Amino acid sequence: MRYELMLPHQIRKAIAENWPVALPLGVLEYHGEHMAVGMDTLAVIKTLELFENERDVVILPPFYYGAASYAVAPPEGSGSVQVGGNQLAPFGEELFYSLLRIGFRNIHAIIHHQTENFAAGMPTDLAFKTAGRQAIFRFLEKQRGEGWWGSETMADYYAGHAAGENFFNWVQVHPLMPAAMNGKYPFDHAGIGETSLMLALCPEAVDADRFADNKGWYTASAKEASAELGEEGVAMIMANLKQILQS
Ligand SMILES: [Zn+2]
Repeated sequence: MRYELMLPHQIRKAIAENWPVALPLGVLEYHGEHMAVGMDTLAVIKTLELFENERDVVILPPFYYGAASYAVAPPEGSGSVQVGGNQLAPFGEELFYSLLRIGFRNIHAIIHHQTENFAAGMPTDLAFKTAGRQAIFRFLEKQRGEGWWGSETMADYYAGHAAGENFFNWVQVHPLMPAAMNGKYPFDHAGIGETSLMLALCPEAVDADRFADNKGWYTASAKEASAELGEEGVAMIMANLKQILQS
C-alpha cells in the first residue's frame, strides 16, 4: 500500500504483521539526451509497484533528492540535482526515527544510483545507512534509557544475535540490483541496461528519437536497448525484492 493513502487502522495492521516498509531512494541525474532524469528513482518505484501486486508492503513516498553528483555532467542545462551526503544524513535520521516512533521495525531503503560497488558505498546510500544507525541508537535510548544494552534484560543478546535477531536490522539499505546480477544483466549509466529497464518499466521515460543526440561514451550502447532485455532485469530484481522484503 502507498503510505500516503493508508488509514491509521491499516498502519496498525501493517505494524502488527511486520510488513516491510520500503523507501524508494534516488536522485535526479542526467541520463543522456534520450532518457528522463528520474531514471534511477523510477526504476525503484516501478519495481516496488510490481512487487506490491504480489506481496504485502508499505511503499513510502519516494525521495528523489539524493547526491547525484556532477560526475556525469555539470548541472547547467543537464538537469542533475546534487544534495550532498552530509546534508542527507540528518534528514534520513529524522525520517527513520519518526518511522520507528510510529512502530515500524522492518524498514528498507532501496536505491539504484551508484550501486555497482555497494559494499563500499557511495554518498547517498552511506548517508542513509548512517541515518538508520543513528536513528536506532537514539530510539533505543529514548525507549529503554541509557545503559539499555548493558542491562540484565540483554544478557541473551549474543545468543539472539546468532539466531538472527538484531535491532540494527530495523532499518536497512539495499541496492535495487544485487551484486549477484553482475554478469547476468548489464550494469551501466544510461546505456543498454538502464535504458532497457525503463523501456520495460516506464517507456514514457525514453525517447528513441533522441539516441542520435547522445555524445557520451556511456550512452553508446543505449540504442541497442529493448523492453525484452529490460524484462529479464526486472525478473531478477523482483526475485531479489522477494528475498529482502519479507514480513
Ligand atoms: Zn542511472
